[in-house]
Amino acid sequence: MSGTVEFERHDAQAVNSARLRQPLYTARRKIFPKRASGSFRNFKWLVMAVTLGIYYLTPWIRWVLITSTVGRAWCGYTCPQTVWVDLFLVVERAVEGDRNARIKLDQGPWTARKLALRISKHAIWVLIAVATGGAWIFYFADAPTLLGDFVTGQAAPVAYITVAVLTATTYAFGGPMREQVCTHMSPRARLPAPTPDQHSRPVTDTDWRGDASLRPAHAAAAQGVETGDCVDCNACVVVCPMGIDIRDGQQLECITCALCIDACDSVMDKLGRERGLISYATLADYNANMALATEDGAHEIRPSLLRDASGRMSQAVSHFHLRKLFRPRTFIYFGGWSLIGLLLIYGLMTRDRLELNVLHDRNPQYVVLSDGSIRNGYTVKLLNKIPEQRTVTVSLGELPGAAMSVIGLDHEEGSSVTVSLEPDRARSLKVYVRQPRELKPSDSRAQRLVFHVEDVSSHDAADYVTSFETPE
Ligand code: SF4
Ligand code: SF4
Repeated sequence: MSGTVEFERHDAQAVNSARLRQPLYTARRKIFPKRASGSFRNFKWLVMAVTLGIYYLTPWIRWVLITSTVGRAWCGYTCPQTVWVDLFLVVERAVEGDRNARIKLDQGPWTARKLALRISKHAIWVLIAVATGGAWIFYFADAPTLLGDFVTGQAAPVAYITVAVLTATTYAFGGPMREQVCTHMSPRARLPAPTPDQHSRPVTDTDWRGDASLRPAHAAAAQGVETGDCVDCNACVVVCPMGIDIRDGQQLECITCALCIDACDSVMDKLGRERGLISYATLADYNANMALATEDGAHEIRPSLLRDASGRMSQAVSHFHLRKLFRPRTFIYFGGWSLIGLLLIYGLMTRDRLELNVLHDRNPQYVVLSDGSIRNGYTVKLLNKIPEQRTVTVSLGELPGAAMSVIGLDHEEGSSVTVSLEPDRARSLKVYVRQPRELKPSDSRAQRLVFHVEDVSSHDAADYVTSFETPE
């Protein structure tokens, strides 16, 4: 079938081959994915650059307060596991070489060179893991300030714990565990997804073009058997990061990364055959084309039935068309996710930038001072949610004659006090509020007291209603 055209045939077998898979868990066999090239690989590089760029850089944009991460466009492209495994594989290839070199190194004896390469690889992995854990904490405080505090040992313990945990998990998941995370830990692999239907497009081996049952195809072709387009080169197997052979059919391990599509398309290009032997295909198209190749199941697959007299793919073969993407289900999901996105944006735009919480002292609830006036104690918590220093005024309302004093602040007792707030920080004030005894109403034991906080320049403001306790 291949004529004189040169293409590389890999002596490989899928590590996670569906045909050889054991029913119970067996010891993991290492997977050494070969570097793939093609349009899907290029798209994955682009997505990786964008997603990693967003993750590492956005906390440093000081004029935007990031309180949530961007939404997930999932599995083969933007799942963090996929993106970081891709990044770790780039490092592994740069240090140890592509697939064959890595297999040789792995199976070879321990030498000084092997030790140096392994130490270099793991050291770079650890650096990436530390940077990943470090980047995460910058989402929760002003990044330059926190970095300064972190390296000088002045950051909160939770910052160090968070970095340690994320460093360990990033290193373990992206390095040694890799595909095992997708297979054994990801709920996506274990739960039947509710969204696909027969018009969804998983990565599919269009075996109506090249019957998997005829493998090895080159041996079958030598016996004059009609084999279709698959030349059994294993290019799709050696690039698969999950170690599977997509020609075995749909498997839960498949993360739909499409690297096997790139690998197979490049082989089809060399052979001068139509691309898409492995492709994103719908079950509806697959069934229609399979019916064509077997004349509605009357016999085994005959790939020649799919071609016209000139040898080109027949017009009757079902192909992808853009209009097939526009289905009611697609619009419903798009509408639902758009609504969620809009609500998130609305929540971000309208969220409080200044927050006030007040806790009334419970023991004692009030104190009668020597001049007969009544005093209550409060803990006032101010939360500045913008990455800039600001000056705010805290004032009292609704309690007749109320005056306050703040412990630790040098100020005159009065109905308001001015304090400064650090960027993205909370500040706690111990406040005493005093009311002359003669102003206490005779019909109420607890009176209403309002704390009001206001930014003197932006006029961001917040109120908190509490009570002022007095004796009977
Ligand atoms: S079978 Fe193809 S799409 Fe699925 S994980 Fe392997 S390379 Fe990616
Ligand atoms: S499906 Fe494509 S890449 Fe895979 S063995 Fe067949 S020809 Fe090679």
